[in-house]
Amino acid sequence: MKNADGLRRVPRHPRLILGLLLLSQVAVAMVWWRHGWQWGLALMVATHLAVVWATLYPRASWLVPALSRLPTAAREVWLTIDDGPSADTLAMLDLLDRHQARATFFVVGERALAQPRLIEAILQRGHDIGNHSRHHRDKLFWCLGPRALEREIGGNQQLLQQLSGRAPVWFRSVVGMTNPFVGLPLARHGLTRVAWSARGFDGVDCQPQQVIERITGAIAPGAIVLLHEGARHGHNPQILQGVLQYLQREGYRTCLPKA
Ligand SMILES: [Zn+2]
Repeated sequence: MKNADGLRRVPRHPRLILGLLLLSQVAVAMVWWRHGWQWGLALMVATHLAVVWATLYPRASWLVPALSRLPTAAREVWLTIDDGPSADTLAMLDLLDRHQARATFFVVGERALAQPRLIEAILQRGHDIGNHSRHHRDKLFWCLGPRALEREIGGNQQLLQQLSGRAPVWFRSVVGMTNPFVGLPLARHGLTRVAWSARGFDGVDCQPQQVIERITGAIAPGAIVLLHEGARHGHNPQILQGVLQYLQREGYRTCLPKA
């Protein structure tokens, strides 16, 4: 697999983006004043919608750069497993071993702190870890300000470095949401946001076979596959197994971008 330097999308000018957003609102005020409220309101709604879209749509890249697939025509994919470590981690590691597959585990700091041995096991068995925030504040992450984001992202970065001896280079947004301030801690800690190109919506009402079909239906060369662990429905290992069987049947390899 390509060296990660070619894949990294660390935000280069997060403050410039924030400045441009501020300027856009100055422009709204000027249009409102010079051309009337109808034009001003229309421009205000358009600029706000653009920010809301980039915040809520996980693959939107204009606010904070994101890697959504790997630039390769080879039959290889990047498996990413979010929300651990969990009670599923060891079973999922066994499944990956059985299929000689590798994955990046995007881990939550507080869960890693509670089960540091699982972080050790992930790394010892040849996988990688990424940063998935300190507390996984799924309801609030989209509206956190710069300080809270530094605690969530930078705090987790430090914790994972202490636990594993290495600083992650990949970051996965909590429930995929990314507001304009997320670029600040990513730039500070040299992190690249990783989105995905194949997912199964394995949320609350999870039907494993449907989830597997949704994921495998989106698999193509260079796909980044979003999986989870530790969900209450308990089907995450079964879903991983289905995906691994599909990859083997279709002649896909898994790859692990290295820093
Ligand atoms: Zn998550």
